[in-house]
Amino acid sequence: MARVRVESLRKEYDVGTVVAVDDLNLEIEDGEFVTVVGPSGCGKTTTLRMLAGLEEPTSGRIEIGDEDVTDVHAKNRDVAMVFQNYALYPHKTVFENMEFGLRMSTDLDASERERRVVETAEMMDISELLEDKPDELSGGQKQRVALGRAIVREPDLFLFDEPLSNLDAKLRTTMRAEIQRLQDELGITAVYVTHDQHEAMTMGDRIVILNDGELQQQGAPTEVYENPTNRFVGGFIGSPSMNFIDVTVDQVSDGLRLRDTDGDFSFTLSAAYATANDAALGMDRYTLGIRPENVSLADGQPQNAITAGVDVVEPVGSDNFLHLDVGPEFIARVPSDVDIESGDHISITFDESDIHLFDMDSGAEIL
Ligand code: ATP
Repeated sequence: MARVRVESLRKEYDVGTVVAVDDLNLEIEDGEFVTVVGPSGCGKTTTLRMLAGLEEPTSGRIEIGDEDVTDVHAKNRDVAMVFQNYALYPHKTVFENMEFGLRMSTDLDASERERRVVETAEMMDISELLEDKPDELSGGQKQRVALGRAIVREPDLFLFDEPLSNLDAKLRTTMRAEIQRLQDELGITAVYVTHDQHEAMTMGDRIVILNDGELQQQGAPTEVYENPTNRFVGGFIGSPSMNFIDVTVDQVSDGLRLRDTDGDFSFTLSAAYATANDAALGMDRYTLGIRPENVSLADGQPQNAITAGVDVVEPVGSDNFLHLDVGPEFIARVPSDVDIESGDHISITFDESDIHLFDMDSGAEIL
């Protein structure tokens, strides 16, 4: 296994008119499982392909272990990639698929190769499939074989490109757990690309969020969830998405009054909050961010409450999502046993510690 260092990595396409990856810096520790997430076209696959050596960077540097591999051909990098479409050789058996990579990348003799394939097949629970061809396998079995083929090589680095996207929801959950088990057992160093933020959050020791080819934030999943560095990350991580309301801010005698810029409502944060955050609060306009799960129903009409009409009640099992007529889109998550119907008017509030304030223009998090 090996640590990975990416320095000022850039990839342009179409003579510079498309910047797929822009000045990316990353350090991945030995044995660390890093998930890379972001919307379609943000540069996830391009980043992975540059790590694999399948795409040449326009500029920048990639180190795997202590070696600068920026100009090293893919076949000479000790890296295994697992693809969404499995990429198995259709005319080879499972055994041959797994053994082929070993034959190409190592000088192990035939009996040692066989020993490793058989051992890995046992670990992946695919021993009984070794003589089958890929078209005799289900999607989940194919992905197990693809994983086994990567593991048997014992590479320095595993690269996963949306490996579970073609599987149904149940199988995805099973395979996710399987990959996490392998990670625990083998301590693999991995970069795992997904567009599914839930997958990124649950699987990664660290999550890397890209947008428009640029790194937005990296950190432990809870850290990114609790302290998004900007409005994009706040909105991208978490489901349903964080609610945003543009507000103006005034100091008033009993605290800090936030008024939405459409003038529909205002509420007041405590004097203690205003004092504690005085140094950070230099502007008079912000985008307020509050997560649906941090909205609660207010008792009476405290100063930091908003009155809202309920447009839609969306049941999701133990909770209901309330779509409220506050701002462009505002969702509150409340327990399903709370008796609220569409058309009701309710009073909502939130804990001051759960409030995020973003710069309205740049989107940077202020508080
Ligand atoms: P998705 O989740 O949809 O797979 P992604 O985050 O993996 O997206 P990339 O495939 O890395 O994104 O693409 C990043 C940007 O680079 C996109 O704007 C894409 O159109 C562009 N791009 C990728 N490959 C090429 C190519 N070979 N030629 C030209 N532009 C490309």
